[in-house]
Parts: sequence; structure tokens; C-alpha cells
Amino acid sequence: MIGHQQTLVNIKSDLLNICVSSVDKHNNETSTLLYKCLNHHFDIDECYFLLYEGENLKPFNINPTYEINFSGIVWGLLESYFEHKRVIEIPEFLKSINEFQHLSHMAMLKVDHINIRGVLLLKPTPKWYAFSESEFFEEFIKSVIKVIHMLNENLEVRQNESQYRKLYNMTDLFHSTMDIDLILENVLITIQENFPNFDVELILSNDQDRQTKVQIKPFDYLSERPSVIEAFVSGGITTELADDLNRCLLNAPIKGRQAIYGILQVSAPISYTFSPTQKDFIRMLAHASGNALENAKLYHQSHRLISDLQLINETSHRLNMKLDINEMFMFLQKQLMKSFQPMELCFVFKEKNEFKLTEASTKLFKSDEGKLYIDHVTKHFENSQDSLFIADFSRLISQEVHYKSLMAIPMVVEQHINGFSIVLHRDSYFFSFDSFKLMQSLIHHSSLAIANSILRNQLQEMVDHDHLTRLYARSYLDKFVEKALQNDDSGMFLLIDIDNFKLINDTYGHQVGDEILIQIGEQLINIIGTRGICARWGGEEMAVYVPNILNDEAIKLSKHIVEAIPETTDPKVTISAGLITWKKQQPLEFQSIFLQADMALYNAKNNGKNQVCVFDESMLFQS
Ligand code: GH3
Ligand code: MG
Ligand code: MG
Repeated sequence: MIGHQQTLVNIKSDLLNICVSSVDKHNNETSTLLYKCLNHHFDIDECYFLLYEGENLKPFNINPTYEINFSGIVWGLLESYFEHKRVIEIPEFLKSINEFQHLSHMAMLKVDHINIRGVLLLKPTPKWYAFSESEFFEEFIKSVIKVIHMLNENLEVRQNESQYRKLYNMTDLFHSTMDIDLILENVLITIQENFPNFDVELILSNDQDRQTKVQIKPFDYLSERPSVIEAFVSGGITTELADDLNRCLLNAPIKGRQAIYGILQVSAPISYTFSPTQKDFIRMLAHASGNALENAKLYHQSHRLISDLQLINETSHRLNMKLDINEMFMFLQKQLMKSFQPMELCFVFKEKNEFKLTEASTKLFKSDEGKLYIDHVTKHFENSQDSLFIADFSRLISQEVHYKSLMAIPMVVEQHINGFSIVLHRDSYFFSFDSFKLMQSLIHHSSLAIANSILRNQLQEMVDHDHLTRLYARSYLDKFVEKALQNDDSGMFLLIDIDNFKLINDTYGHQVGDEILIQIGEQLINIIGTRGICARWGGEEMAVYVPNILNDEAIKLSKHIVEAIPETTDPKVTISAGLITWKKQQPLEFQSIFLQADMALYNAKNNGKNQVCVFDESMLFQS
């Protein structure tokens, strides 16, 4: 009797020692001390403390990689074997496990108020038998449980402390960096340091605008495991026993304030159960990285927004300065090439209700192959003003295409599509959504400047032309002649007046008179073509200027005109004309050219009309 009491006292003293030494010893060593204590007092060589962690039974303080498969043994089942006894024989299912084959008995480890449940497996010795029958056995079990409980708590505090220190260091780093690669890399390192026996994977949702150097797996809604998708959608941690992988998976969402960016997946052996503290740690790590990632993304995004705005600003500023429409398109082409790096690009513009390809388009669009893309886009814009953002054109079209990525943006002014721009790239999914948005802004801001330039051109054309005959107006002719006199080597000026036109008007009416003016205008253009310009001088007088022509040829050309007019007018009219030619050796004043041509015309009329008269100096002295 006294012997057992003494044993209990001795054991308690050993247990106290274990507690004291656990303060600075590693936990594995303290658990060895526990086994040693049993050996010392009861001659027990081998025993196992099996304890519940959640629903799972695990050997106490044995290296976590050491695996014994206990799955499915719930406490209720194990407890039922005891039938209120403290020690029983090991049931068959436990005995069938290799490690326990030469053990025979088990003692229940459970006392009120302490959250520890489990069993102690051993092969009883005579000393053990005697003690377990004694009244001190109860007290012994209680003390052992209390010590284990204390050791467990001690361990957890230490582990937590080291984990949270790492977490703190990591968030500290996150606050000081905008480098997404560095953040992702550190998430992986921190997990690996804390759970060296597990695998980690970063499953990140599509991030088209930047490529990271860190090994990540892109998140794919179609093929991801349901537990991953659930974590991504719900924003909460999920776990899964993946039989197919023979792993236990834990999915923690990488969550910022604005969005979920992916999943941090930790995978352990299938028999492993993540403790609430571990889950908490991984959750916090994923959360911290989510916030850091978000900050970095927002930072990069704001930088990009600023540079996009600068680009748009610069472009519309430059476009509003330039007057020439071709220059505008060339400039816009350069900006689009620089910003989006397309392989081909075109601008199509509406002229007289028809879409026309501009010069600032690349080679492909001037070929038959390019027509395919233009036709598709034209058709689209017939029914819609929405821009096109196509990641894989080959999916939309039955024939083979070389360019898969396509963006097409309409130029809309006052709700009408004036034209559009297309950019192409061979690779599918080449353009990012941000590029699409930027191109929309660029084209949108350029559309008005381009439309204004075209209106300006149209207005100028109206001012430069005579409304009735479509010949140039006199003001345009004046400017043209003035320049020609400065720049050319020679030239001719022919002033034309219809003979007896008053009579035509009186006989047939003004309307027919107008028709004749139109017919003469057309005939002049036919004859002169691009050699020179034809203008309506005023009333029923017209003028022709041809640069770089010498006297003889000028006379021939003028005679031809005089002869051709009666043949092409109906009712037939004849014309009289005064010709003046000049060359560098005999330069001419701008003012005298009209005066002298008028004198020659006057002479032609006086000589009987229907003829051309060439100016000569003697005419200056006629009265
Ligand atoms: P001449 O052979 O001497 O030139 O005789 P003319 O009858 O042509 O005389 P003049 O050149 O002085 O007369 C010009 C006439 O041309 C007067 C006007 O009725 C007519 N005219 C001028 N402008 C227009 C026009 O825009 N339309 C029409 N139908 N007639 C015009
Ligand atoms: Mg006249
Ligand atoms: Mg006349």
C-alpha cells in the first residue's frame, strides 16, 4: 500500500521534472521523458499515448511525418470498449496495426474538465498490474493527463509565437513593397518554412496585364476542383480529402478589400488534419497577401491610368493642331502601334456614304486577306455602335484566319459612325482588356478632331469651287496663278467668253444658258485634265491656266478648246478666247496677266469671235 503511494509520489516528482524541463527543451525530448518515466517505475519498454486532435487519433508528440492510419476511429467507439473500466485489452482493430502488435492493454486517458481524450497502449508488467489495481491509479492517470495537457499548450504557444513572428515579418515586408513577384514569392516561402512537409500552390485568377516570374497556376473556372471554386466564390477556407490525389487539401482565398485574387492551396498527406490554429494561420497569411497584392495592383493600375491619360491628352492635343487628315491618321497610327503593338492596323473612313480605307493602314488591309476583317467589322458596325474585342477570331469564322486577336473601335460623332479602326495580332488573347479600354478612349477622343478636319476640308472645297459648273472659283485660280508665277518656268493663261450668250439666254431661257455653262465646264475639264486648272472667271466667262507650257503648244491647246466647244454644246455656242503665255526669261506681273488676257479676248471678239487671240505688245497701244 505504502509502496504504491510512494510510486505515485515519485512519478509526480518525475512529471514535475518533465514540466520544468519542457520550458527550455524541445517537446520531442520531453515526451521521451514521459516514456522513460513509465519505464523507470513499471519496467514498461514500449507504449503509445494516442490522443485525439479533433476527430483524429494521433500518437502524442511523435514526429508529424510519422503516419499511422487511424481513420474512422471516433472517440465514442473507443470509449465504448471500456465499459467503465480503466484498463482493458486492446481491441482487434487496433492490434491489427503493425506498431501495436506486441502490445496487449490499453488505459483510458480522460478526466473531467480537461480537454484531452485518448488511450495509453502498453504491454503490462507485474509492477504495472499491481499499480493499476491500486487506489492511486486514478490519481496517476489524472496527473499524466494534466502534464500532457500542459505540454500541449506549451507547444501550441511556442508554435504560434514563431508563426506569428513570421507573419508579422511578412506583412511588414508587404507594406514596404509594390513588387507583386516579391509578395507572391514570400507567401510561398513563409508557408514552406512553417509547414515543411506540405506542398503549396498559388492558384491565381487571370492577370493579363502582367506576367509574374513566380510559379503560379492560373485559376480556371472550368477545370478547378469544386473545393477551390467554393473557396474562391465564398471567400472562406475550404478543406477537401482528395482521394484521387491521396492528399488533404486546404484552400485559403487570397482576399483583398475589393476582390478575391486567387487561392493559396496547402496540401498534406490524406490522413492529416489541419488544426484550427493552423487554419487560422494560413487564413491570415492568405489575407495579408491578398491585401498586399491588391495594394500593389492598385498602385500599378494608377500609374498606368496616369500614363494612359497622358497618352490620350497628348494625342487629342496633337490631332487638334494638325489640319491635314492624312497627317492625322499617320499620327494616330504611330500612337496605336506604340501602345498596343498590333501586327496590322487600319483606319476606315466614311466618304460620301461609303467606307474607304485610308493610306495610314498597313499592308495586309490593302490585300484581299485584309478585306475579310474589314468586311466582318463593317457588317458589325452596320447594326451596332459597340466596339469589338475578339480574343480568337478563328472561332467566329468558318475559314482559316491568320490573325486571331482583333479589336475594332468605331469613330462616332453625333451618334453616327464616321469610320473605324482595326488592330490585329496573330496570337489569340493578345490584347488585354485594359488595352481595349485605352484604344476606345484614344479613338473616342480622336474622332471629333478627325471629323472636324474632314468638315474643314469639305468646307474649303466648297469655297474653292463654283457651285454651278464645279470648276474652280476665281479666288482659287488667283492663288494658284500667283504661286505658279513664282515657282514654275513657264505657263499659259486663257480667258474665255461665250459668244452672243445674251441671245442664247433670250432665245432658250436662263435655264438652258446654265446648262451650256455646265457643258462647257465639263468639256474644259476633259481637255485639260490634270495638266492645269479650269475656273469660272465670272458670269459666262471662264479661264484656264496650264503651268509649264511653251507658246506654240499653248496656242495649239487654245485652238483645240475653241474648236471643241461648239461640238459639245447643245444648243451650239462658240467661244472667243484671249491667250497669254510667259516664261522665266520674260517674267510677268501677277496683275498684268489678267489685264493682258482680257485685251487679247477683246481682240478676238473684234476679229469676228469664235477664235483665240494671243496677246502681243501692240495691243497695249490700241484704243
Ligand atoms: P459677246 O459675244 O459680245 O460676249 O455677247 P454676249 O451676249 O455674250 O455679251 P456679254 O458677254 O456682255 O453678255 C453676258 C451675258 O451672259 C449676260 C447674261 O445674261 C449672261 N450670263 C452671265 N452669267 C450667267 C449665268 O450664270 N447664267 C446664264 N444663263 N447667263 C448668264
Ligand atoms: Mg461677257
Ligand atoms: Mg459673251
